[in-house]
Amino acid sequence: MTQKPVAARRWRHALRDLEARKLRRRLRTVAGAGGRLVELDGQPVLNFSSNSYLGLADHPAMAEAARAAIARAGVGTGASRLIVGNHREHELLESELAAFHDRSAALLFNSGYNANVGTLQALADADDVIFSDALNHASIIDGCRLSRARVVVYPHNDTAALAERMKSEHGSARRMLVVTDSVFSMDGDRAPLAELSRLCSEFDAVLMADEAHASGALGPGGRGALAEAGVRAEVQIGTLGKGFGSFGAYVTGSSDLIEYLLNRARSFIFTTSLPVGVVAATRAALRLIQGEEGQARRACLHEHIEHFRAGLESLGLLVPDSGTTAIFPVMVRDDQAVMECSERLLSKGIYAQGIRPPTVPIGTARLRFTVMA
Ligand SMILES: *Cc1c(COP(=O)(O)O)cnc(C)c1O
Repeated sequence: MTQKPVAARRWRHALRDLEARKLRRRLRTVAGAGGRLVELDGQPVLNFSSNSYLGLADHPAMAEAARAAIARAGVGTGASRLIVGNHREHELLESELAAFHDRSAALLFNSGYNANVGTLQALADADDVIFSDALNHASIIDGCRLSRARVVVYPHNDTAALAERMKSEHGSARRMLVVTDSVFSMDGDRAPLAELSRLCSEFDAVLMADEAHASGALGPGGRGALAEAGVRAEVQIGTLGKGFGSFGAYVTGSSDLIEYLLNRARSFIFTTSLPVGVVAATRAALRLIQGEEGQARRACLHEHIEHFRAGLESLGLLVPDSGTTAIFPVMVRDDQAVMECSERLLSKGIYAQGIRPPTVPIGTARLRFTVMA
């Protein structure tokens, strides 16, 4: 007879179970500025696991902007945006981001995770249907759940299947919303944005696109994959912790959308606002992204993408549909083998994260390489 674990021991039992299934995760300690080279658990390694695609995370102009803002306004804001945590710096960044995307308004969130969760929770409820790509980011999955809407998960990038499902839901759902990553975080492929936009017009649905891996790094002027495809999503999410090299996230769209989110998105309302130093650093990042330096860094990033793509292709390791963004999956498939590959690379001074289920579907364990400018 198996004994029920005592309450206090249940976490340890659960951890042992993860350990036995080789699924236990562990932190590694990073030292240094998080650029091309980092020190990982004391060992210097080539960093193929950062999302700071333009290499801005340790840019001196951003650090200087943060220092100046902290000297002026302190480190913490002490309250949420709607109480006494709304500084001029937040408002300036929002209007600059809106202008960057040629949209009416923008709203800052404390991270991409918070932006997706809060936006989906605010925009959909139990009478609505959300259509979500099977490979969407975990924060989108969690936002769908929090909204209490009915969620239809469609096969990855399969617009024919999506059209079928939209047709059958059209009429019964009060509102329909289609949500997708614009660049998929574990596969590095792009969403068929033009076709998704066309389907949304046909069925009077809202399109929400998450540009986490495109913001600042891809598209004309770093304005993302939507701009590159010439598509407007009614709800556009951008993140500031990846290509921007800073921290936070934003939603851009119409003024009504932004006002509505400000009133209803719980992850915006019930949280302390972003530190002013972080916001000032992000404004500096946006200036770099829009200037000559950003242009040069994007050109360099694209050279590195092309170099890496050609190398993988010549080794027969290039995954179809990848190779045009900074994210390169190298399929290993077996959960244990992928961690061994990652360890072997690490012993040669190369850090590429092994990715296993549940982060990716079962049987698709992979090494994930990202390149930077
Ligand atoms: C990283 C990521 C997020 C989360 O953004 P954070 O700012 O790191 O919380 C959201 N969506 C996608 C697609 C991502 O890859």
